[in-house]
Amino acid sequence: MKKQHHHHIRNCSLFAMLFALALGTLHAQHDPFRVEIPDIPGYKTLRCDLHMHTVFSDGQVWPAVRASEASREGLAAIAMTDHQERRRNVYDEKVSRNYSFEIASKAAPKNLVVIPGTEVTYGMPPGHFNAIFIKDADAMSTTDWRKALEEAKKQGAFITWNHPRWENQQAHITRWLPEHEEIFQNGWMQGIEVANGSLYSPHAFQWALDKKLTMIGASDVHAPIQNGYDFQKGEHRTTTIVFAKEATAASIREALDNRRTAVYFREFIYGEEQWLRPLVEACLSVKVAHNVGSNTQTPRFVVTIKNNSGLTFKLLKVVPGEKPAFYRDYLVKPHSSRGIGVGFPDETGSDEVVFQVSNFLTSPETPLTFTVKLPKTPKDKRVKSKAKAK
Ligand SMILES: [Zn+2]
Ligand SMILES: [Zn+2]
Repeated sequence: MKKQHHHHIRNCSLFAMLFALALGTLHAQHDPFRVEIPDIPGYKTLRCDLHMHTVFSDGQVWPAVRASEASREGLAAIAMTDHQERRRNVYDEKVSRNYSFEIASKAAPKNLVVIPGTEVTYGMPPGHFNAIFIKDADAMSTTDWRKALEEAKKQGAFITWNHPRWENQQAHITRWLPEHEEIFQNGWMQGIEVANGSLYSPHAFQWALDKKLTMIGASDVHAPIQNGYDFQKGEHRTTTIVFAKEATAASIREALDNRRTAVYFREFIYGEEQWLRPLVEACLSVKVAHNVGSNTQTPRFVVTIKNNSGLTFKLLKVVPGEKPAFYRDYLVKPHSSRGIGVGFPDETGSDEVVFQVSNFLTSPETPLTFTVKLPKTPKDKRVKSKAKAK
């Protein structure tokens, strides 16, 4: 009896040890479902998916599942945008188009904002549009796209042109047609999908910059989310990064109206420099250290770049104003550091290092650059310190 008791205690401590080990591992690895992205000065950085489907149109899941999936991934907001027309899973026409929002918002935890919406679905032109922040989806049921968009506008909706590059509708060239110009001029288009699921549109990106439209990235998910993304491999759904004052519906709407967004697609971030620069600065901390005690063949400085986020950074060391003659790139993985040697003896003159972030684009052709200032050191100082060491 006594022996048994002894055994029991030993098992307990073993369990405690294993438990502590497990906790330590979790802390080190980070939750693979969540991509941690820091806030920027003045704004919260919110990952939002503003385009998705449920069984109330041609999607495969119940609306509450969408809330659960989004919550698991740490998203701040989702918009329920079931089709007006493709109600393949709805067997009774009397079923309201507002149900998917009502069900998802009831099921959602408090920290997930659920936004009412609908997708009005027409052939090209003009194609598909999302109206979100609407009051009544049923009122938009019409075969006349002008009437549908007019009604959305009347309800105060934020309207987005969806997947302009979709092969089914614009097979070869992505065009801004007269109908899109009409929609734009009427104030029936505030946003454009730069990325939708696995589809990226450089045209939409350029139009967003030129016409001052809000950049949107969305999953447009129809199946269960894990069918499209392998979270264990670091994959994540396409989303809009919204820079909002608060994590509320009103605040997200205000940010969308003022174009404070970026698009997160695979490892890419698309957006204006005014948002990408503070985002990069919030994610990366840079330290420059003298490479003390080194000989003339080794770099004078080591620039250590620490990535405090779940995003990936692909850096390219460049000479300003020159196209990279050869590629020396540095991958800074999520939650990791990378030391880069700079200031070799044959590099003369410059006291700064310029990096391109090749996966952060401020236009379809333009990667964001950032500059690291090097401290000034007289050339002979290194020799001196070396002599001193001897
Ligand atoms: Zn669509
Ligand atoms: Zn859709």
